[in-house]
Order: sequence, then structure tokens, then C-alpha cells
Amino acid sequence: MAGSWHVLGAGSLGTLWACRLWRAGLDVRLILRDDQRLAAYRAAGGLTLQAAPLTEQSPVPGETAAQGAPIQRLIVACKAYDARQAVAALAHRLAPGAEVILLQNGLGSADEVAAVLPGVRCIHASSTEGAYRPQPWHAVFAGHGFTWLGDPADPTPPAWLADLDQAGIPQQWTADILSRLWRKLALNCAINPLTVLHDCRNGELAQHPCEVASLCDELAQLLERCGQPAAAADLHAEVLRVIHATAQNFSSMHQDVALGRRTEISYLLGYACAAATRHRLALPHLQQLQRRLIGALQARGLPCD
Ligand code: NAP
Repeated sequence: MAGSWHVLGAGSLGTLWACRLWRAGLDVRLILRDDQRLAAYRAAGGLTLQAAPLTEQSPVPGETAAQGAPIQRLIVACKAYDARQAVAALAHRLAPGAEVILLQNGLGSADEVAAVLPGVRCIHASSTEGAYRPQPWHAVFAGHGFTWLGDPADPTPPAWLADLDQAGIPQQWTADILSRLWRKLALNCAINPLTVLHDCRNGELAQHPCEVASLCDELAQLLERCGQPAAAADLHAEVLRVIHATAQNFSSMHQDVALGRRTEISYLLGYACAAATRHRLALPHLQQLQRRLIGALQARGLPCD
């Protein structure tokens, strides 16, 4: 499909998406934070993607929010806590009928973005792909996976999915993206905070079966109460499967804390606890987990939102 793509954020996931679109011969541009970052990017000569066995540089053109052509399709690849502000700075450049694809983990940031873009179609993504950034402008494609895309307000698939196929991005449109996002949020809430509190790899949570089981029970209650029964089904069994299958991995939250980086807690466990409060649902284990996690973040001098 003809038309340009803009990728907002040149981090791990932004690099992964921008490089694949670029290599497929599509018209893609990268939006950097400011002139200083743009100058540094241009000096580097492009984005490098390491995807074994190849490491390739792609000279994707860069620009800032302030300048550039109207935007037709925007992939938002910054952290959940940056998305609203980053998108608001670009709102004036969105063309009529523009679409925004949101790659953020968790729930809540898509609503924040939609609130600053009234009338703009916002498409949610839930991805199991994994990438990290060992140095600026260089991402390592560490985990092949799959991306689900959907729009809770409109089940019609967009025509540009063919571009993603052309770029070799494994994806599928789903009419029930919220169910997938809630399920992923629940898996994250059952695993990631505990890996921070026990300072361990995912697999070591097998040594804390009661803690994991109590959390899964409460998360399943929450999903049911929030109108997501499909996301609640067999949650405990899947959490145990993930703990086993990713036993050697450190969770993304553990990695953030270990590197002294802000976590996305407000869009994960924080979102779940706020939803429970809204529904007047008492979930003591989940709420205690949130208090313990906030305490652990504060003890390390990290933001707790
Ligand atoms: P990341 O590596 O930290 O990249 C975020 C990027 O956004 C940074 O390059 C940052 O720029 C940029 N940014 C922030 N505000 C901006 C602004 N106003 N204008 C332009 N750029 C801006 O994060 P990530 O790992 O790619 O994760 C992005 C989202 O995807 C998160 O919600 C994450 O949970 C989700 N996700 C990630 C993965 C993964 O494997 N990485 C997998 C699934 C989901 P600076 O470099 O200038 O700070």
C-alpha cells in the first residue's frame, strides 16, 4: 500500500519496526525527541538492527516533531509514560484520516493518547517480540514473537496490514485486542513484580508457588469483574507455563530496576489495582504486592509511577 510511515521513538522496539519497514522498501521516517538527538542520530548514519545472523544499518531519514510532512500512519514506540506527551507534540502534523499504532505495554496509555487525539483512529498492539538496545541507535532482536493488532472501537482491519506482511512483521488483526491486552497485563502482574521483590529470574518464582497462586486467583477475579472472562480462563496454568518457559530470563521490570530505569508500573500493576478499586473489589494480595513494589522502587530512588 502506498503511503508513508512515521515511527516515534528510536529505542529498542522503534528500531525493530523502523528497520524492517525500511528494508522492505517502504517510505519510513523516524521522529526524534529534539534537534540534539536528531544531530546525534544523523552523525551515527542510521539505525542498526542486529538480527542473527545479520547486523545491518538502515539509513532511515530522521526528523523532529516540529518539522516534516503530514503524518498518515504513526507507530508510537516510546514508553507508556512518555506516549501521551510525545504524541501531543505531533498532533498538529497528523493528516486527515491518520492512524496511530500504539506499541506500549500494559493498559492506560492508549486511553491517554486517544484523549489528546480526538477523532483519530488509535490501534492497539500486543507484542511478544523482544528487543533491547545495547547502545544508542542499535537494537538487538532478541526474541522472535508475534504481534496482535486491533481497534476496540472498530473491528475493520486497516489496508496497511499488507505493508507489515511485506516487511516480514508477523502479525494478525483481532477483533478482541482488549482481551489480549488484559491477559498480558495479568501475566505481567503475576510475574514481573515478584521477580523484582525476590531479585530473581522468572524460573525462581517456582519456589514461591503460594504467592503466585494467590495473585493469579485475584487477577482472575479482576478480569472477570472487568468483563474479560476469556482473559481470565486458565490464568494460573499459563503463568506457570510462562515461568517455566522463560526460566532463564530476567523480566522487563527486573531489567529496568537493575539498570536504574523508570518502570511502567502505573500501566501494569498500578492499572490493575486502580481497576480493582474502581470496581470495589478487595484484592489484598495484589494491593500488598503494589505496596511492596513501590517500597522497593523508592528504596532504589526510582519513580514509583
Ligand atoms: P526504549 O528502548 O526505552 O525506547 C523508547 C524510545 O522512546 C527512546 O528512544 C526515547 O528516546 C523515545 N522517546 C521518548 N519520548 C520521546 C519523544 N517525546 N519524542 C521522540 N522520542 C521519544 O523502550 P522500548 O523497549 O522500545 O519499549 C517501548 C514500548 O514497547 C514500551 O511500552 C514497552 O513496554 C513496549 N514493549 C517493548 C518490548 C521490547 O522488547 N523492547 C516488547 C514488547 C513491548 P530517548 O532515547 O531520547 O530517551
